[in-house]
Amino acid sequence: MPTQETAPSPTPTGETPLALTRRARRTYRELVETYPYAICELDFTTPLELLVATVLSAQTTDVGVNKVTPEVFRRYPTARAYAEADRAELEELIRPTGFYRAKTDSLIKLGQALVERYDGQVPERLKDLVTLPGVGRKTANVVLGNAFGVPGITVDTHFGRLARRLGWTGEDDPVKVEHEVAALIPRKEWTMLSHVLIYHGRRLCHARKPACGVCPIAALCPAYGEGETDPAKARRLAKYELAEGAPWPERLGATPSGLAARWAEVTG
Ligand code: SF4
Repeated sequence: MPTQETAPSPTPTGETPLALTRRARRTYRELVETYPYAICELDFTTPLELLVATVLSAQTTDVGVNKVTPEVFRRYPTARAYAEADRAELEELIRPTGFYRAKTDSLIKLGQALVERYDGQVPERLKDLVTLPGVGRKTANVVLGNAFGVPGITVDTHFGRLARRLGWTGEDDPVKVEHEVAALIPRKEWTMLSHVLIYHGRRLCHARKPACGVCPIAALCPAYGEGETDPAKARRLAKYELAEGAPWPERLGATPSGLAARWAEVTG
């Protein structure tokens, strides 16, 4: 009987799997050089705080969440405090983050589940985290990566869009995106990968009009040209610390000369 050779599975860009892996890793390195200061943009000091902040961050910005969490964390320092929360009071505190009734419900149920099943502690395993009310794979990976140091890929809207534009995946389903990207980038880099892709999506590679003309990974991106390619016009699309005239993030302290030089080189 003739043997059938199995062709290597095609990549979204038609590159060989090896070429795609090399390009993905190079792109990742470039992004780390561009955003070496990338971190989880939600403020927190404990796994519980991060879990709560991540639940609150659904359908809103991290900046908006960071405005309400100092008081939320002060009023509710433990899982039990959420379990026993006065619904009206908690709703009022988190109202600015939107969908506050559903989020209050999630936080109270989350507190109850943590108290009943985990002795009030946030579990450290993906399979346990995803059983908690209001906690999906994305939230679980944020907590694992940032509060427990366990590498995790966080496929939010920015990550998914960037992974598709970069030709790393052709999938829309977040779990499939996660698995395909996981096969391209070493595990120990997954948390930082999530940060830099999300940073890039928020600052330059926007959903509607990406700033291709000032993009540091333009040469590695099959979607170059999907957005504004004129550098002067693209420069005006940059957001956060890369927006014209914006201060560098406080955590950077004085602008590091190497980073400033790199950004000047990119933006022209
Ligand atoms: S070249 Fe354009 S589409 Fe590609 S990553 Fe950069 S901004 Fe996004």
